[in-house]
Amino acid sequence: MTVFHLKYRPQTIAQLDSEAVRKTLAKLLENKDIPQVFLFAGPKGSGKTSAARIVAKAVNCLKPKNGDPCGKCSACLEITAGASVDVMELDGASNRGIDDIRLLKEKTFLLPASLKRKVFIIDEVHMLTKEAFNALLKILEEPPVHTIFILCTTDPEKIPETVLSRLIRIDFKKGKTKELRDSLQRVIAGEGIEVAEDVLKLVIDRSEGSFRNAQKLLTELVLACGKKITDEKVADLAWLADGNYSPELLAGDLVEGDEKAILQALEVMASAGSDMAEFRTRLVYFFQNKLLISCGIELEDQKKIGLSTEALMEWLQLLIAAGRQERDSVLSQLPLQLAVVEFLKGRKLTPVSTGVKNRKVEEEEKEKKENLSASEISHKKAIGSALVEVEAVEKVWGQILLAVKPYNHSIEAFLRAARPLRVEGETVVLEVFYPFHKDKLEEDKNRKIVEKVLKEVMGVELLMACVLGKLQRSTGPVIVPTENAVLNVVDKSKDGENGDMYQVAKEIFG
Ligand SMILES: [Zn+2]
Repeated sequence: MTVFHLKYRPQTIAQLDSEAVRKTLAKLLENKDIPQVFLFAGPKGSGKTSAARIVAKAVNCLKPKNGDPCGKCSACLEITAGASVDVMELDGASNRGIDDIRLLKEKTFLLPASLKRKVFIIDEVHMLTKEAFNALLKILEEPPVHTIFILCTTDPEKIPETVLSRLIRIDFKKGKTKELRDSLQRVIAGEGIEVAEDVLKLVIDRSEGSFRNAQKLLTELVLACGKKITDEKVADLAWLADGNYSPELLAGDLVEGDEKAILQALEVMASAGSDMAEFRTRLVYFFQNKLLISCGIELEDQKKIGLSTEALMEWLQLLIAAGRQERDSVLSQLPLQLAVVEFLKGRKLTPVSTGVKNRKVEEEEKEKKENLSASEISHKKAIGSALVEVEAVEKVWGQILLAVKPYNHSIEAFLRAARPLRVEGETVVLEVFYPFHKDKLEEDKNRKIVEKVLKEVMGVELLMACVLGKLQRSTGPVIVPTENAVLNVVDKSKDGENGDMYQVAKEIFG
């Protein structure tokens, strides 16, 4: 098994993950007059280097088809193998001085050794010094006819205007959901992987729009679960610990005014080592999107959330302010937590805040609709609260797990990673440790199964609710940290197809 993002690196324009880039490059390369200096700008993992290598092949291919390299001629094969001296990749971060660029200049005047054109790919070009940029500018003003330059950057703002104006700029954006899905699908089909739809969605969500991240996450999952990746297997992984509290989930909690849930989730993320600044950036993107939608602008994802335009504006201002506090904060999660508290403080939200109470209200209303008399309701409640203590649930917890399993293996796995926390009236409150588990258990069909089993085992009608707990070794279920989780699996399965997994795990985790 190989690391997927390397094995499935796009080799032709048609295989590039981003549709916009595909179209632009195809148009440029179909022309006889191919531009000589490009700027590929975009975030990490958006496919810039892959695209640069494809351009190198396209301009050198002996049998191109509509501008796309054939992948089979001697030139294509040489470049794909990384064996051509005429295609040079330079890292701007480590070759940033004027001497490096002078050296480069000398090479540009030499004719190609075997290919038609020499291609210079300069990564992270914004790292060059001012002097180096000036020297580069002179080359780019009049590049020798046998040369092509592709400058790549994550930070185009740092490139001097004089240089920018010389370049054909192509913007690489974060992947859209469909593009990320297609990219993963290539690997899934190629490797014969089976993956549950929920898990696939989670991978896409966690990739933060990076094709490389998405494929790395899939590699990790295959390492831990094998080629059949089910909800149930994923439930057992600590893999979900960090970053899984998505902007969508936070938005939901924010709308419900569930301050506690948000603060807890942020604690869990921070203790799992998530990059809180990165998460805040994702929140800004997410809520800015919602603001645009709320103002009637049409976007790919038109889903609205229950916040008014004014509320969204206020929340975004708070997020921006939180960004300014990040540098000075000792605790990485604190600026976001302050923003949440501040936002919810100024707001009179629906009187009920936790999911537990909301459910109770719902049930009560349902009962009323069913025309039960008031005394019947109170009778039922009296039984509920009188008969069940949390200790009683704990006692039969094993039986409950066993009884759930025939209905649904995943739910059993999620419950195994949870614990009964308390009983509020007729509601059994479970403490879960991952937002993903909470989401799954609270899905209507799953919740109903748990409640059915509770009734079977306890003999009383009970409701189920989940709260997100903080992950602690001493209290929660036994959960191994992410890296160990994967390495443990590797250790256990030294035989068969998993033989080289240790190596792959090392490549991922260093
Ligand atoms: Zn070719």
